[in-house]
Amino acid sequence: MMRIGHGYDIHRLVPGKKLMLGGIRMPYEKGFVAHSDGDVVLHALCDALLGAASLGDMGQHFPDSDPKWKDTPSAVFLKQVLVWVRQKHWQVANVDVTILAEAPKLAPYMKDMCTKVADIMQISLSCINIKAKTAEGLGVIGQHHAIAAYAVALLVQ
Ligand code: MG
Repeated sequence: MMRIGHGYDIHRLVPGKKLMLGGIRMPYEKGFVAHSDGDVVLHALCDALLGAASLGDMGQHFPDSDPKWKDTPSAVFLKQVLVWVRQKHWQVANVDVTILAEAPKLAPYMKDMCTKVADIMQISLSCINIKAKTAEGLGVIGQHHAIAAYAVALLVQ
């Protein structure tokens, strides 16, 4: 038995906020406008895992209308999602993430990001892949107004 899930997230960037990506604080002059810390990598992963396990979506479980989740580190969401996934007897075979960001340059942080995600998810580093692309200057991402992430997750029983 195996199940695949897909996730996507985007958050707006504004000056003077902290930028969290893949659980790592990125040195950058802009950060996310969000109810939580806005970590699009972890949010996309949450939705991919929820999707694969037929558990709905992040907005349903952690609504941004609930003050309880204000400024919550997204690692808390991802850890909780994995509790539910494992309760349904699924284990994570692998996850693959694509970040769309014009800046900052993410290549120097990819290894740290993978290590951090492996630690949060309690899975082997070899089960995680994260990559980054720019938007070639096009649209809201290309104009440095937002960062987005796509994720897929494969679950096995
Ligand atoms: Mg989000």
